[in-house]
Amino acid sequence: MVSPEAVPYAKVGGLADVVGSFSRVLKGSGHDVRLAMPLYGNIERKVDFKQIETNFSVFLGGHREEVCSLWEVHRPNGNVNGSVTTYFFEHEKYFGRNGVYGTQEGSFKDNDKRFAFMCRAALDLCRYLKWIPDVIHCHDWTTSLIPIYLDTVERKSELGQIATVLTVHNLEHQGVFERNLVTFAGLPDEVFTPNCLESMGSVNMLKGGILKATKLTTVSLNYAEEIQRPELGAGLNSILKRRCADLIGILNGIDDTIWNPATDISLPQMFSVDKLEGKKVCKQQLQSHFNLPIMPSIPLFGVVSRMYYQKGLDLLLEIIPSLLERIPLQIVIVGNGEPAIEKKFQEMEKAFPQKIRVFIGYNEELVHQIFAGSDFFLMPSRFEPCGLTQMYAMHYGAVPIVRATGGLVDTVEQYKEGPPWGNGFLFQAPAPQAFYDAIIFATSIFFNRFDEYKQLQANGMRKDFSWKKSANRYEEAYQSAIKAHKKMLTNLRKA
Ligand code: ADP
Repeated sequence: MVSPEAVPYAKVGGLADVVGSFSRVLKGSGHDVRLAMPLYGNIERKVDFKQIETNFSVFLGGHREEVCSLWEVHRPNGNVNGSVTTYFFEHEKYFGRNGVYGTQEGSFKDNDKRFAFMCRAALDLCRYLKWIPDVIHCHDWTTSLIPIYLDTVERKSELGQIATVLTVHNLEHQGVFERNLVTFAGLPDEVFTPNCLESMGSVNMLKGGILKATKLTTVSLNYAEEIQRPELGAGLNSILKRRCADLIGILNGIDDTIWNPATDISLPQMFSVDKLEGKKVCKQQLQSHFNLPIMPSIPLFGVVSRMYYQKGLDLLLEIIPSLLERIPLQIVIVGNGEPAIEKKFQEMEKAFPQKIRVFIGYNEELVHQIFAGSDFFLMPSRFEPCGLTQMYAMHYGAVPIVRATGGLVDTVEQYKEGPPWGNGFLFQAPAPQAFYDAIIFATSIFFNRFDEYKQLQANGMRKDFSWKKSANRYEEAYQSAIKAHKKMLTNLRKA
C-alpha cells in the first residue's frame, strides 16, 4: 500500500480510515501487507518508531540523488493477527512541515515534487528491502506515478513484474501540474502524451495513473458508474469509460475496533442496539457539552464534515432559518475547511445559540460523541464517492438524511412504510427545498411514529458495514491484476 495518509498516523479524511483499517484486515487474512507513506512533521514518533536507514537514496530526474531517512513501525494489530509494517520517508524539505496536502491557505506549492518523490521512494524501498510485492495498491493522484514508473523506466527491472491496483477515492482531486514534473520525476518525455500524463498542456497525475494501472477500483458501485458519465466524471469520464472493463466498484468497510458504540471509550456511556439506554446519556452529554438545552424529546441532528463545496453544507445553511421556524430541533456541527463556510456556520450559531452549535476544527473524540448523541445525521453531499460518516452514524444509531449520490445510495436505504422499513432518508436534487422536505418528513416520523423511527435506527445499527465482503472483492481484484499483468509481460516477451 502506498498512501499519503493512513490511520493512526496521519488523517485528512476517509482515505486514512480506509487505508489504515483495510491494510490490517488484509494482513489478518494472511497477506504480507506493508504500507509506505511520508513522515510528516506532525506525526508523533512514538517509541515503536525505528529509524532503519539514515542514508536512503532516491534517484529522480537527471540522476539527481535525494537522500532521506527511512523509519519503520510494527504496531500490534488489534483483534487480527500480526501487524502491518509501515515504512515512513523522512525528508525535511518535502515532509518536515505539518500537514498532508496543505494548510488553510491552500495546497502546498510543491505537492508535485513531494508526491513524485513519495512514488519514486516507494519503488526504491522495494528494491532496498529486496521485497518485490505481487501488487502495489495505489491510492488517488498522489500515488499515480507508480504505475507509470513501472510501465516505463522499471519495465525491464526486477520491479517490472509488479502489478498495480489504483483506487480512486475522489475524482475531484487529480494532481494537475506543469510539464516539468515529468523531468523532475525522471520519467521519459514520451509519457507526456494524451495517452498517459498529458491533459490540456499540463500533467494530470490521476489521468496517467488511470491509464497505466493494471486494474482500477473505486469506493462504491454507484460511484463506479457515476464517474463514467460527464456530470460526475470530472473530465476523466471518457478515459474511465475506456477502461470500464478494468474498473471495479468496491464499497469501503468500517473498522469495528475504532467505531463501535459498545466498546467506544470516548463515550460517556457505551450502548448497543439491544441496550440503548447509553445513547440517551450520550445525547444528554452532547447537549450539555454544547450548552444546548437538555431536552430528550427534541430531535438532535449531527453533522461531521469537511467544509467544502462537495459536501453541500451550503444547502443546510440555506434552510436552517425556515427549519427552525417550522419544527423544534437542535443541530450540532463539527468540521473545518473553507473559511467562508466556517464563518457562515459561526454566524448561524450566533443567530440561534439555543439551537445551533458549531465546533470549527478537528476533534476525533468529539466526532464519536456526535454520532453517539445524535438522533439524525445530515449529509447533503453534491457527490460522495463512498462516505464513511453515514456508516459510522448508522452504527451509532443516528439515522442518516443524505443526498442520493455515490456511496450514499449504496449504504442508505430509504424509509418505506412496512417491514423492513429501511435505515434512513434520501433526497434526489442537490437543492435546498429537496433537503428541507426530507428533514421535515424524517422529523414527522420521529414525532408521530416513533416506533418506526426506532426500527430505522435498529436497522442501521444492525447493518453489516464490516470489511468482510469488500476484502474478498479486493482479493479478487488483486488476483485479476496479477493475472492480467503476467499476460501482458508474456505478450511483450513474445513480441
Ligand atoms: P471525506 O473523506 O470526503 O472527508 P468520509 O465520510 O469518507 O469523507 O470520511 C471523513 C472522515 O473524516 C471520517 O472518519 C470523519 O469522522 C472524519 N472527520 C471529518 N471531519 C472531522 C473533524 N472535524 N474532526 C475529526 N474527524 C473528522
